[in-house]
Amino acid sequence: MDIKNVSYEVTQNCNFRCKYCYVLKYAKKGSVETGKAVIDWLLRSEISGRDTRTVRINFFGGEPLLAMDVITGMVDYAKLLNCDSLKKVRFSMTSNLSLLTPEIMTYFKDNNINLLASIDGDKETHDKHRVLPDGGSTWGLVYPAAQLLVKNQTATTARMTVSLDTASKMFDNVRFLVEDMGFTNVAPTPDTDNAVWSPEYIEILSNEYFKLEQWIVDRIHKNTPNAICIRYFSKTIGLLLKDKKMSRPCGAGRGYWGISYDGGIYPCHRFASYPEWRLGDVFIGDIDYSKVQGMIDRDNRKSEKCKSCNIHYCGGGCYASNYVRNKDITVIGHDACELRRLLERTGQNIINKCWSTDCFRNLFLNKGGKV
Ligand code: SF4
Ligand code: SF4
Repeated sequence: MDIKNVSYEVTQNCNFRCKYCYVLKYAKKGSVETGKAVIDWLLRSEISGRDTRTVRINFFGGEPLLAMDVITGMVDYAKLLNCDSLKKVRFSMTSNLSLLTPEIMTYFKDNNINLLASIDGDKETHDKHRVLPDGGSTWGLVYPAAQLLVKNQTATTARMTVSLDTASKMFDNVRFLVEDMGFTNVAPTPDTDNAVWSPEYIEILSNEYFKLEQWIVDRIHKNTPNAICIRYFSKTIGLLLKDKKMSRPCGAGRGYWGISYDGGIYPCHRFASYPEWRLGDVFIGDIDYSKVQGMIDRDNRKSEKCKSCNIHYCGGGCYASNYVRNKDITVIGHDACELRRLLERTGQNIINKCWSTDCFRNLFLNKGGKV
C-alpha cells in the first residue's frame, strides 16, 4: 500500500464553533514528538512505497494555527531529513485563516507550505455558520487574512461549505470569492452530513449551478485566465471527455490517510472523530487493513446501486458522509446522488457550449490532440 498523503490533526482545538463542523472541540493537541513519529512512519518504505519520492502532510485541526509550535517542529525535522533522505516531505495546511499574521504568512511562504482556506463566501453567508464560541462574527478576522493569503500565494483554494440556508447565494458567493477576493479556485461543497437536501433545496441548487455554468461559459468565451475556477467542474469535464467513471470517491484507506493528534491512524481525517475507525498508530506502525478492505477493493461501477448510473464524477459518495448519515461507508443518500447529477449536467453543458473554442479544448487535449 503506497500511502503518500496524510492529514495530521495538530490540534482538535479551534477558536471557531462552526455550526456544521464535525471535529470534537477538545483542547487535545498534538506534539512535536508525535509529529516526528508521523514523518518517520510515513517515510518507511513499507508505508509509502520504495519508489515514492515525495510524501505530503496536510496540517489539519481544529485550527492548526493554534499549534504553530508543532508545525514548526515538524517542518524543522523534515528539513533535516530532506537533506539526506531520498524521499522528500512536503506540507500544506487547511485553516480558517483567522490567526494568520504577516509573519506567519512569510514563514509558510519561505517553507513552500500552501494554505487551503475554509471560507463560505461574503460576510453575511460566512457569519451564518462560521461563528465564534459566543456566536459572534468571524468575518472581521477572516477577511483581512484572506486578503493577505491571496496576495502571497499564487494558487489559492477557498473551501466553501454550502448549507440549506445559504444555497440560494451559492453563485454570488463563488463569484465574490473569485472576482472580489482573488481566490483562484473555489470548492463549493454542499453539507451532506447535517442537511438532507429535499427536492425543494435541490431545485434551489440546480438554479445556482445554472448560473455558475453560464458564468464559467462566459469566462471561457472571454478567454479569462483560469476560466474554470471550480476544480469540481474541470474534474467532471475531464472525466466526461474521457468517458471515465470513478471507481471510488477518493484515496481514503489507500493512498490517503488521517492521523489524529495522538498518532492514531484512520482511513482519512474525517474518521478521526470515530474511535471504531482507529486502525493503528504511528508509534507501533502497523495498520489493521481489514477494516478498510471495503475501501481497498471498492469498485463502485460494479455496485448494485451505481452500475447502471451514468454519473462520472462520483465514486459512490464520500465514505465519511455516508458513515455519518447511514453508518455504512457505501450507502449514499439519494440527495447526494442528485447533487452529483447537478455537477454532471453542469460539466456536460459547459462542454456543449465551449467545445468550439480553442482555449477550452486546449485545456483538455494533450499535444497529440487526445483527451
Ligand atoms: S450518483 Fe449515486 S448512483 Fe450514481 S455513481 Fe454516485 S452514488 Fe452511485
Ligand atoms: S472519505 Fe470523504 S472526507 Fe475522507 S477523503 Fe474521502 S471524500 Fe474526503
